[in-house]
Amino acid sequence: MTRFDDILGGVRGRWLVTGAAGFIGSNLVEWLLRGGQTVVGLDNFATGHQRNLDEVRRLVGESDWARFRFIRGDIRNADDCRAAVDGADYVLHQAALGSVPRSLAEPLASFDANVTGFVHILTAARDAGVKRFVYASSSSVYGDNPDLPKLEGRVGRPLSPYAATKCANELFADVWARSYGMSCVGLRYFNVFGPRQDPEGAYAAVIPRWAAAMLRGDTCQINGDGKTSRDFCFVANAVQANFRAALASTVTAPHEVLNIACGETTDLEQLFAALNQALADRAPQLAARLRSQVPSYQPFRAGDVRHSLAAISRAETLIGYRPTHRLAEGLAEAAEWYLQSVDRAA
Ligand code: NAD
Repeated sequence: MTRFDDILGGVRGRWLVTGAAGFIGSNLVEWLLRGGQTVVGLDNFATGHQRNLDEVRRLVGESDWARFRFIRGDIRNADDCRAAVDGADYVLHQAALGSVPRSLAEPLASFDANVTGFVHILTAARDAGVKRFVYASSSSVYGDNPDLPKLEGRVGRPLSPYAATKCANELFADVWARSYGMSCVGLRYFNVFGPRQDPEGAYAAVIPRWAAAMLRGDTCQINGDGKTSRDFCFVANAVQANFRAALASTVTAPHEVLNIACGETTDLEQLFAALNQALADRAPQLAARLRSQVPSYQPFRAGDVRHSLAAISRAETLIGYRPTHRLAEGLAEAAEWYLQSVDRAA
């Protein structure tokens, strides 16, 4: 019995996961293989890592791994997209350049991967006649709309090039769905975290960056006054949403977009305390040092939205999405992984 048997049980599908060497993509590959599915992964290692695929192989074992085929290729290349999508029933499209600050520094690179690449893979999926095209959108599409919680029908103006690329994804998916009779579902992820999320680099997300800093004994930096809030979503919830979105017979409109989060708000100071606690609970030898840590405060970051909280009722109603991990449960599982990765690196 694996975690997603209630969704994947009885299904023997062929799946393409783009961005397979990345954080969310490698989690999708892991749970598809554990669930008996046949999977092709596509990635160019722009931000993903071979070590993520190696870890999945170790976790699932050789007999499940035999149902996986990896293509090192680029979603901006039509031939790579065609080869990857050939024979697929379902596409879970994750490949993109993430990060608001990266997109402000390098807007053309973000546009290229996130929009040109998106249209290539979308078109290849159309040509291959896949049953459903599920893709990663983002809460960033809510932009400057201050309403809370965020409802799918009410977006604002995007605040960064990254957000604009995700708005463009939704626009193209909508047009391709209506023009070509494709079935498309966009998942607006809200701050996903968990095992294999990259802690390194200038564009690392807050939870893995802070976990690594806490374990090194470095100071964690809070951008702004600490009251900026997010709806943090453990990766198992995002994986569940992808599987449900791909398989749900209740999706009948050509194109749907759904918020994927927990429906809970946490500010950065609360997050700091909760992560610190989760690590201290699992590493008693480090507990005293962890508890003595205090964050430092930096200026607000350009392009960041102040508060973000999802209404998840549409995903609940349409595809039966139910988050299995709230923040504390997700941090508990993630903390195990952060501690193990420090051990592995030692
Ligand atoms: P990630 O950087 O770990 O994974 C993205 C993967 O895509 C990487 O492995 C990268 O090498 C690959 N990739 C990038 N450009 C490519 C290209 N041109 N061709 C082939 N592969 C390419 O990021 P992630 O956090 O796993 O994000 C997955 C998706 O979810 C992205 O579309 C991201 O925008 C979206 N998203 C993530 C979050 C989050 O909190 N992690 C929130 C909202 C949306």
